[in-house]
Amino acid sequence: MTTKQHAEPEKVSKGGHATKERTCIICGKTAPKGELLRWIASNGTVSPDWTQKLGGRSVYTCFSSRCLSGIYSKRFNPAFCDNFAGFGIDKSQIFDFVKENAQRSRDWYFNICLKSGVLVKGQNLIAESARAGTVFSRLFFAEDAAENTVSFTERALGLTGIRLDLKKEELGGLFDGREVSVFALKPSEQSEKLVFYMYLSGFFTHQEK
Ligand SMILES: [Zn+2]
Repeated sequence: MTTKQHAEPEKVSKGGHATKERTCIICGKTAPKGELLRWIASNGTVSPDWTQKLGGRSVYTCFSSRCLSGIYSKRFNPAFCDNFAGFGIDKSQIFDFVKENAQRSRDWYFNICLKSGVLVKGQNLIAESARAGTVFSRLFFAEDAAENTVSFTERALGLTGIRLDLKKEELGGLFDGREVSVFALKPSEQSEKLVFYMYLSGFFTHQEK
């Protein structure tokens, strides 16, 4: 399945538009390429190509946490790496590249989400926003967030939160340095990208379904 990516058939949808299908290199699922994430090797590094238009050797993966962590869990996932080998990328550095890029992008989206108000931190601010009618789609807690913070915020939002692999102090370091127990995200393209890069940066305990 990995060697024939360029030769996959183009399917024509009912509307007459060509829908190119691609296969996730981790789980083997086939889907229209717009529903998968394209990774490219270019300029001596490997990174996600959100535009799906950049030149370079590419593979596709799902956005699922299972497939994203699958890239790492086997550390050198052979299918993922072999596709980039021989294209000016040192195989042993692929994961460092992916991780470095992920961390840089994660910090970028943290900043964007915070500045645009998509990210709200602190239990009181979050609860206040929710009372004022703000809808949140994601809720995250520091590893050492107090139980009453967790129950208070989850109740206020009607959402179940996810515990991160980071302590309050480490989480605060991503913002202004003050400890952070909890933050919530409003639904948006930026917040989903942030969550994606959090996955890739290894932010989550691996207890997810
Ligand atoms: Zn997959």
